[in-house]
Amino acid sequence: MISASTAPPLLSVRDVDVHYGQICAVRAASLEVAAGEVVTLIGANGAGKSSLINAICRLRDCGRGHVAFRGSDIGARRADELPGLGLVQVPEGRRVFGRLTVMENLRLGAFCRTAPRKELEAELDAVLTLFPRLAERREQAAGTLSGGEQQMLAIGRGLMARPAMLLLDEPSMGLAPRIIDVIYGAIAAIAARGVSLLIVEQNAFLALELAQRAYVMEAGAITLSGPAAALMDDERIRAAYLG
Ligand code: ATP
Repeated sequence: MISASTAPPLLSVRDVDVHYGQICAVRAASLEVAAGEVVTLIGANGAGKSSLINAICRLRDCGRGHVAFRGSDIGARRADELPGLGLVQVPEGRRVFGRLTVMENLRLGAFCRTAPRKELEAELDAVLTLFPRLAERREQAAGTLSGGEQQMLAIGRGLMARPAMLLLDEPSMGLAPRIIDVIYGAIAAIAARGVSLLIVEQNAFLALELAQRAYVMEAGAITLSGPAAALMDDERIRAAYLG
C-alpha cells in the first residue's frame, strides 16, 4: 500500500515562468497540492498569483516549467481539456455568462461530462442545495445577479464538472463580509467532501484559516511556504498581510 506521504501530489508545479512580452510576472514558481488538501497562495496585488494559476490551467505558457496533474504532465493539454481530467478553475472576477440564466450557466459547467442525465440532475440539486440563493434565482440572467451570487454561480459551475481539484482565484474579491462568510462556508463544505483546493487570496486571514498549507508570493516568486497555522503566526506575514 502506498502511504499518504509517498503518494505523488495531485498537482505538481515545477519552475514555472510567465512572461508578458519583456515583463517577467512569475519566476521559477514551484508548488504542490496533495489529494484532499486545501492550500492557499497569498500575496499582494500584482504579485503574480493569477498569472501562475493561468499557467497551471494552460491559459498562459509555463516557460521552462512543468505542471503535472494526477502524475501526468499536462503541458501538451489545451485549457478546455483540463476539466475533463478533474482540474477546474473558478476565475478571478467570476466570468459567468451574463446573458444566460443561472441554470444554463450551471449546465455549461458540465460540458466535459458524458454522465447520464439523472446524474447531472443530481449534481445540479447538490449545487442548488449548497447555494439556496441560486435556486431562488434559477431562471434569472446571470448578469443581473449580485457579485456574491455570481461568485456562488462561478463556484457552482465549477462543481458541475465534478472536479478532483478546484483552483479558486480571489473568491472573496469585492464582496461584503457577510457574503464572504457564506462563500467561505461553502468552500469549507466543498473541502469536506474531499475536493482538493488551491485558493488564491489577497484576504490572507480568511484563506490561512481554512487552508492546511500556504505559499506566499512576492514580485513573481514564491518566497515562503509552510503550514498555514505557522504562517499565520509568522511576524513577516502578520506585518505584510494581516495588519
Ligand atoms: P491581483 O491580485 O491584482 O490579481 P496577482 O498577484 O494575481 O494580482 P497578476 O495579475 O498575475 O498578479 O499580475 C502579475 C504582474 O503581471 C503584474 O505586474 C501585472 O501588471 C502583470 N500582468 C498581468 N496580466 C498582464 C497582461 N495581460 N499583460 C501585461 N502584464 C500583465
